[in-house]
Order: sequence, then structure tokens, then C-alpha cells
Amino acid sequence: MTAERHEFQAEVKQLLDLMVHSLYSDKDVFLRELISNASDALDKRRFQRLTGALPSDEGDLAIELVPDATARTLTIRDSGIGMSRGEVVKNIGTIAKSGTKEFLAAAKAKATEGSPELIGQFGVGFYSAFMVADRIELVTRKAGEETATRWMSTGDGAYEIETAERDQPGTTITLHLKPTDEEHGLNDFTSAGVITEVVKRYSDFVAYPVKLGEKTLNSMKAIWDRPKSEVTDEEYKEFYKHLAHDWTDPLRTIPVKMEGTIEAYALLYLPGRAPFDLFSPEMKRGVQLYVKRVFVMDECKELMPSYLRFVKGVVDAHDLSLNVSREILQKDRQIAVIKKQLVKKVMATLDEMKRDAREEYLGFWSNFGGALKEGFLEPGGDQEKLLDLLVAATTHESTTTTLGEYVSRMKEGQDTIYVLTGGNASTVRRSPLLEGFTAKGFEVLLFSDPIDEIWLDRELTFQGKAIKSIGRGNVQPGTEEERKAAEEQHKDMSELMVCLRAAIQDDVKEVRLSSRLTSSPACLVADAHDMTPRMQKLLEQLGQAPEKARPILELNPSHPLLPKLKAVFAADSLDPRLAASARLLLGQAHLADSGTLPDPATFATALDEVLLRALA
Ligand code: ADP
Repeated sequence: MTAERHEFQAEVKQLLDLMVHSLYSDKDVFLRELISNASDALDKRRFQRLTGALPSDEGDLAIELVPDATARTLTIRDSGIGMSRGEVVKNIGTIAKSGTKEFLAAAKAKATEGSPELIGQFGVGFYSAFMVADRIELVTRKAGEETATRWMSTGDGAYEIETAERDQPGTTITLHLKPTDEEHGLNDFTSAGVITEVVKRYSDFVAYPVKLGEKTLNSMKAIWDRPKSEVTDEEYKEFYKHLAHDWTDPLRTIPVKMEGTIEAYALLYLPGRAPFDLFSPEMKRGVQLYVKRVFVMDECKELMPSYLRFVKGVVDAHDLSLNVSREILQKDRQIAVIKKQLVKKVMATLDEMKRDAREEYLGFWSNFGGALKEGFLEPGGDQEKLLDLLVAATTHESTTTTLGEYVSRMKEGQDTIYVLTGGNASTVRRSPLLEGFTAKGFEVLLFSDPIDEIWLDRELTFQGKAIKSIGRGNVQPGTEEERKAAEEQHKDMSELMVCLRAAIQDDVKEVRLSSRLTSSPACLVADAHDMTPRMQKLLEQLGQAPEKARPILELNPSHPLLPKLKAVFAADSLDPRLAASARLLLGQAHLADSGTLPDPATFATALDEVLLRALA
């Protein structure tokens, strides 16, 4: 049978192009990537044997490296699960990772600037072999199938695929090596010395023998059940890279040992950067489950809450059955206890980082804060602990703060943590709603992530203090008495308010005076239990049609406009200037709130009317 020629998916072509011309200095890592893939495939095969899904008498589980200096090839052979023809096309011909396009565009730009390190961030797996090889041949046979598949490519945009033979299930990858060029990181990968060194450095802990001839190169010691004192930082880091297919160092390594009623070991990692697809539902979640060193499953959701889905690692639970299914895991009490412990450990690590390494913590927060905030919405999440980890922008200087620090700065008698949400960091910082609070010396926390609208809506408390948005209800700066006194004082304006409201009654719930403002004439607030205008917009963007909640228009009694309006009203309560002013003030308040007008035409007409009068 002749070989079929297939074009690679466009993204793969670009990626290959990057690899073939790669300036990435650490080219040795290709071997780590291929050994990791082989080790994953062996995990799957071993698991299927142990659970009876495959016969158990089919030879050793191992990875063999076969260099050939004359032919200038390096062959990596594993007796893992193998791939069917369809799987080869899917796994080696396409990339499913979301965010790939964006990544490739960025990587290309960086590479032309001479900074090729971005590819390391993406964790390019199999394709990294094209950094060292100009032709790759892969022969694979899936366990349980009779025929094998051969795949060949020179990395130039297409590959060939045909039916082949292989004695046993598994995968053989033959790399036709580029000429050695040590200056550019291209070592001689047919040299036993080079291979041994690279395997020891990157893949020592792989659970299967990595063999070169008769010799096994790796120690095969599982890293997670060794005492912390016996494992070097370097080893922990390499294990992370192997596990996460990430080429950058982890931010923190968290070994966990549980003894007593439940026996389990875990090794967790906080990655150094957010994956490109952190907010995509297809993101590969982080924790693998082992039972007494036998791999059981990937992406074990039951061990880590969704808001910590970026945590990578392995959990080895000694008392579970190998046959455990996802359904069983969901109900398993042991798993629930382990999960709780793991979350506690991660939280403690974050807490310590926040306290002792603030800069690093801020970096962590900018990567993963968005995911952590989802924890506020998750039932059973430890809200108080999560709030303690929160970092937010604040009106107190132009920096960021934690809630603990906010509370320590609260004014005498202040019982509320004030917050404000907005469409983006700069509009929220300039919101007129802040004026009264800052003038009176109250600090306000500023939020501009879409998710902030949602969790802040829940009115959580922190250290017994209510967290309230100053953009809704009657949250006004100052004490209860001050508010009462102001209301009294504003009584004589109430008829004017009714008159202004009449002009815009379809668009607002109420027009009232405010003590939030000092220099702006108007602002919008949501009624205590209504959605904020931005929340409505967010739901609309999500394809929902929330019932329109009309906002409240608040006016600033100390603004010079107010006495003028009052005088016009006193002279003639039907003066058309009153209605035009109401529309303009409403438009202005919308602009300050979101930067957009819900009804630009009406605003423009009112503006014309007022301009004409002013110029008359
Ligand atoms: P990643 O390992 O990050 O998923 P790769 O491009 O390295 O990405 O590999 C893509 C997929 O191809 C793997 O997820 C796996 O399903 C399959 N694969 C790669 N190498 C092997 C192998 N040696 N044996 C079986 N399957 C493999």
C-alpha cells in the first residue's frame, strides 16, 4: 500500500516552522518531551493491564534509546499503549489547545526579535523534536490492535502516513538528526555520553527504565514519596516540567504527606505562568491520580476545586482501588478528605508567599487571581480564606492592597468595606461615585474584572465587616446621622427631583440627591437589589436577556447646576430646559459609568437643544 500524503493543520505548520528554525537554546529538552510522552503511554498500558482491560503477559514496560552514529539517527522506542491510525492523525497532525493562534503570533514576533524563549512557555511536545531532526519517522501500534501505522515528516507542512508492521504494541520514533552544532545547542545526540547526561538531568524519576543498550540510565525513584530532604530543587523542577509539559520553572513546589487514617502523598506545583487557556473549558486540568505509584488518571477534577485548576501535580492515594472510576471518586470520602488537605496546603503556601514575597505574590495574582475569584462562587469554598488572598486596586495611593491591609486602615467607626466595580481599571478609578468617599477620607477598593460584578454581588463579609458596593443602594459615605441631616436639608428639592424624573421616567427608577459626589453633577447607582448596569451588559453578552433594571440617577446638591435648576423650576415648572437637562445629566452619568450611552440619539437631540439656547 502506498503512503497517503496529508497536509498539517495550519497551526501545526506554523509551529513546525518555528521548531525547524528554532533559536531556542536548550535543544536537549526534546528528549525530555519524547520520554515524557513515552512514559505517559506506558502509564496507560500498565494501568490497562492491571485493571484487566489488556492481557498482562506482553513483555517489559520500558523505553529504549538506540543511537546510530553512522546513519546519524536516534531512535526512541517504548512499549506503551501506542496509537491507532486515527489517533496518529489527530494527535500528531493537529493541535487542539485553544489560544494556539494567539500564541503563535506572539512567538513569531518574539522570535524575529531574537527572543525565542516563548516556545518554552507553550510547552511544545512532540514537535520539539524538529529542533534537532530534519526528518522524523514514527511507527506505532495500539495495544489490542494487529496493524501498525507509519508516519513520516520532514516538518515542511505535510506528512505521509501508511499501514505498517510492528511486532509488539508501542511506539518507535526515529529522528534523522541535523548535523551537530554545539554552538547553537545541537549536541551530538548519537553519543552515549550526551544521551546519558540528558536523561539523568531531565528524566531520572521516570517510573520505567530508560535503557541505552543493557544499561538503565535513570534511577526510577518516584519523587513524591521520597523525603523532602533527599530531593534537590533541580529534581523537583525537572519533575514539574516532565509532568506539566511546561518548559519554565514552577513558582512553588508543595510536597504533601498524609498519614494516619488516610495515607497519601502528593507533590503539587504552582506554575510560573498562566496557561494560555486558563479560562477555556478545554483547559487540561492539573492533578494526576496514582495508587501506590501506579498511574490511574489524568485531570482528576475530584482532587482540586475548579478555582485551583492551574495547580499541577500528582496525588498518590494508597488505599484506593485501581479500578476506581470517576463516579466512585465523586462519592469517595477519602478523596474528599485528601482534596480538603490539598486545598489547605495550597492556600497556606499562597498565604506565606503573600506575606513574605509580595512581588512574587503580585505576579502570581496577575496570572491566576481571575481563577481564584471563581472560588467566591463555588459552594463549599472557603470564602474568608480566599478573601484574605485577594489583591485589589485601591483609592489609597495608586497601588494594590489586600483586604487585611484595608481593614487595618479603616476609619474609626467605619463598619463597611467599600468597593466599586467598573468596566475597566481607568474608568473605575475616575468614577464620580468615588468623590464623596475620598473627600471624606474613606478608602474604596476598585474592581474591573467581569467576574468581580458577580461575586461582589454576593455581599460577603471579611473579618466581620460587610463588603458593599458604593455603586448600589444607599451606600453613602459618613455616619447614619450625617446621612439623616443631609436628607433633611435636601427636602426642599424633592419637587424638582420629581419633575426631572418625569422627563426620563422610562430610563430611571428614581432621581435623588446624593452625598457621594463632590465635583461631578451626576452619577448612576443600582437599587439595593437590582443588577448594576454592567452586570446587565455582561449577561447580555453571555446571550441572556435579563429583565431591565432601571438605575437610579443621583445628583450632586453642591454642584452649581442644582440651584440654577431649582430657580428655573420655581419660575416655571414646565420650562422645557428642565427636561433637556434631565436627559443630558442622565447621559453624562452613563458616560462616567461605562463610557457608552444607551440612547445616543436622545442625548444628541437634548444636547442640540441646549446648545441652541446657549448660543441664542
Ligand atoms: P502533549 O504530550 O503535550 O499532549 P504532544 O504533541 O507531545 O503533546 O503529543 C500529542 C499526543 O500524541 C499525546 O497527548 C499522546 O496522546 C500522543 N503521543 C505522543 N507520543 C506518544 C507515544 N510515544 N505513545 C503514544 N501516544 C503518544
